Amino acid sequence: RGDAAPRAGGGSISIVGLRKEFDGVVAVDGIDLEIEGGEFFTLLGPSGCGKTTTLRMLGGFEQPTDGQILIDGVDVAQSPPHKRPVNTVFQSYALFPHLDVQKNVAYGLRWRKDVDKQEKAVRVARALEMVRLSEYAERRPHQMSGGQQQRVALARALVLEPSVLLLDEPLGALDAKLRHSLRAELTALQREVGITFVFVTHDQEEALEMSNRLAVMDGGRIVQLGTPREVYQEPRTEFVADFLGVANLLDVECLPGGGATRTVRYGEFTLEAQAPDGAEDGARRAVIRPECVELDEAGRTGDNCLPGMVENAVFLGSTTQVKVRLPHDTVLQSVSTNRVGRDVFTTGQPVTVRLPREALRVLAPSAR
Ligand code: ATP
Repeated sequence: RGDAAPRAGGGSISIVGLRKEFDGVVAVDGIDLEIEGGEFFTLLGPSGCGKTTTLRMLGGFEQPTDGQILIDGVDVAQSPPHKRPVNTVFQSYALFPHLDVQKNVAYGLRWRKDVDKQEKAVRVARALEMVRLSEYAERRPHQMSGGQQQRVALARALVLEPSVLLLDEPLGALDAKLRHSLRAELTALQREVGITFVFVTHDQEEALEMSNRLAVMDGGRIVQLGTPREVYQEPRTEFVADFLGVANLLDVECLPGGGATRTVRYGEFTLEAQAPDGAEDGARRAVIRPECVELDEAGRTGDNCLPGMVENAVFLGSTTQVKVRLPHDTVLQSVSTNRVGRDVFTTGQPVTVRLPREALRVLAPSAR
């Protein structure tokens, strides 16, 4: 299917000092971002963090208050949407009910006076093939499932052969099961066509599963940028840790000295933790993900071990979720894979809790 790619390599995007104010409300508060050609890049954050406004400025639907947007090195700030090498798929994909699928897709080419009728037909057929809807060309939208309609909307955007595709919560209108299967489909499509995708979502699972890299946004700013693994496993702030999954937090005292691995106090206990950003001394919070919390028989000793007690254990088939209480009133969640013959934890059982030093991270204070 490689030959179906509309263009080898997607467009690169360079965003410098991007800001948007609406009547005194700061929606986007100074974004600097480089997106490489061919990346599946996600803007992730809670409602109101500014991700849609950022996307709309990339698409040309919103004029920046300040800052620059360059696509393949060309400043597009003054170009209207249809003059940018960019296309957008919205959550409400608004297909025309009275037009069949191929006419809906051809509608994407309405501005392109330079593309003749024959070339239009070829492009429509190619776009439908990309989204695997060639056999549905003559159907009307109401004769198709939600997922198929979504793919028609994608084809309508792809038919223009953009070098960047913007997707604003494109799976948002679909039910949970369909969303799941479409995630893999959309990622595969992006790899195949090689277009740069900028994807907006508030769903952390979606972002982790689909993206090459992602930017976590809060209050109009990017608070962390990285690969899914980096952002999930190495969150810098409590906000990021919390937004991307279950974050176990401990109040610790960061002792002076040390490099990326620091000594911290948790009550009377001494632990080693990661503090890659050169954490300041003093009262801080540290985070550890549930799957990194190790439980062992009571009485074991070793580095980063604390005494604990099982508060409750829930068998979930492939995993068991255990809540364990540490001294000083901290409750941590842990999750372990169930294998036949493995330890079974019961409420009230004393255990040793090990917090591996590579997985325990001192956080920077959240920006707000
Ligand atoms: P959601 O997921 O709910 O769409 P979002 O992260 O995409 O949220 P934006 O839609 O970009 O956030 O909105 C960012 C901020 O800007 C919000 O406070 C919002 O109320 C405000 N805002 C967005 N568009 C407008 C507008 N046209 N006029 C006034 N304020 C706006």
